[in-house]
Amino acid sequence: MDTVNRVVIAVCGLCWVVLADPAIAQISSPTSLVHVRSRSPQIAALIQRGAERSATFRQLVATIDGSNGIVYIEDENCGHGVPACLHSVVTAGTHRFFRVKVNARNIDDYLTQMIAHELRHVVEVLEDPSVTDSAAMMRLYQRITREGNGEGAMETAAAIDAGNTVRAELRAFERRVAQ
Ligand SMILES: [Zn+2]
Repeated sequence: MDTVNRVVIAVCGLCWVVLADPAIAQISSPTSLVHVRSRSPQIAALIQRGAERSATFRQLVATIDGSNGIVYIEDENCGHGVPACLHSVVTAGTHRFFRVKVNARNIDDYLTQMIAHELRHVVEVLEDPSVTDSAAMMRLYQRITREGNGEGAMETAAAIDAGNTVRAELRAFERRVAQ
């Protein structure tokens, strides 16, 4: 529980930094990055490209756009050699703010796949209105995943499928363009 409390405190600190920075609101793409955002122009462009090329990615973004969730995807280290993670959720006013961390060393289709995977996790959380903070999110994953123990990787088939499907759709797009 102590770990959970520390995480939540850290998360809230980050949240207010994000919320207090008016420049952040201007960064998302004018076309579709309304609820899925990044402070990194490279990641923002990758999200845009993913939505253009993959119907599944587009649907994930549309689902989140239609929700009370706002997702910040940032080039940050998850630790433990994990390339991407849904790090935290915090509620402010009527919105739930999610922080996804990704290793953005390579801006490529694999990164798009990882982002899709994490966005599917965001949708899993959005489907449960009672998950308003990171501690509740941890309890949700302990409930819906078999291996969930509060510390190890807590994985769902839906997130794995979403990432794999997006990767396949990106490959199909490339093949169509190449013809
Ligand atoms: Zn996952």
